[in-house]
Amino acid sequence: MGQLYIFARILNFSKTLTHQEIIEVQQLLSTRKSIVIVTHKNPDGDAMGSSLGLYNYLVRKKHRVKVVTPNGYPTFLQWLPGDDKVIEYSETPDRAEAVIKKADIIFCLDFNALRRIGEVGILVKKTKATKILIDHHLQPEKFADYMLCDKRSCSTSQLVFDFIAFLGDKKLVNKKIANCLYTGIMTDTLNFRVNTTSAHTHRVTAELIEAGAQNTLAYMNVFDTNTENRVRMLGYALQKMTLLKEFNTAFISLSATELKKFGFQKGDTEGLVNYPLSVEGIRFSALFIEMKDEIKISFRSKGNFDVNKFARKHFTGGGHLNAAGGEAHTMLDEVLTNFVNLLPEYKDQLLK
Ligand code: 5GP
Ligand code: MN
Repeated sequence: MGQLYIFARILNFSKTLTHQEIIEVQQLLSTRKSIVIVTHKNPDGDAMGSSLGLYNYLVRKKHRVKVVTPNGYPTFLQWLPGDDKVIEYSETPDRAEAVIKKADIIFCLDFNALRRIGEVGILVKKTKATKILIDHHLQPEKFADYMLCDKRSCSTSQLVFDFIAFLGDKKLVNKKIANCLYTGIMTDTLNFRVNTTSAHTHRVTAELIEAGAQNTLAYMNVFDTNTENRVRMLGYALQKMTLLKEFNTAFISLSATELKKFGFQKGDTEGLVNYPLSVEGIRFSALFIEMKDEIKISFRSKGNFDVNKFARKHFTGGGHLNAAGGEAHTMLDEVLTNFVNLLPEYKDQLLK
């Protein structure tokens, strides 16, 4: 254990399950349990894909399973099998609290710190349930009894597949589970192109397709279901993009008024932050969205510029080396000015 722990630290807290832990988890799941799966605020494709993939697997294993999300998620994910069973804490807090209190096991998926799930985190922390964390973000906090954390993994959905395989249950992966996990991998790898997309990712994906994942359907459901408003908002946002070529940086901001003009719905700005990176030479992109109670910020980078560090240091956020998020609580203009004023400090890294 000592050696493994040191190894995990060197890898920035990657932590696989030991042989002994796999046996313990197998034992835990060998009798019918009440299980809750929780995932992060503003769930994305990987959060919902991994949660519902695991949900459908645990249902096949005859457990009583509930998925709890802190808040709502985009309609383009609402075709995933099991979606109708999801409990949104923001909609029905009492129901979410009741199932969390009753749980024997709580799976925490696609987040690395309890504060990422808001008030749900307070409820999770209070319970005596066995907690199992499956995640691929950097620097996970150690709040769980079992951790399957690998920052090199392209997605939590891929880790859920690995988890099922560790338990010797690959044969249970059916079309429902496969469609969920495939969607999580597809979205978090930006269609198999980010640099965490590995040979293992393609092997897992191949197995998912063999198990019934409908890759074309998944793509169409996620990416070809835009409202007219959303596509026009994309055009508007790209026109508005600010390029700061002296820092190889670009950013886009959308105020509450602008969002309203395009009938903003949850998920409409998903993926927008990636566009500026397609401008030749741009290595750092930021997106600022004025929500009701905060400015939601997304960061993306190419190469070695570490947006996880940047988000942690300046915007109480975090994530991965090349994709991170954060928040701010001042006026939008002020946040933008602060952001631009930070860039000289990073000029060397941005121009490298
Ligand atoms: P996005 O920009 O798509 O919201 O998030 C990019 C990545 O950063 C995702 O992996 C997401 O989980 C993570 N992330 C987004 N916002 C936050 C935040 O406020 N705190 C932390 N720790 N991670 C975040
Ligand atoms: Mn993820």
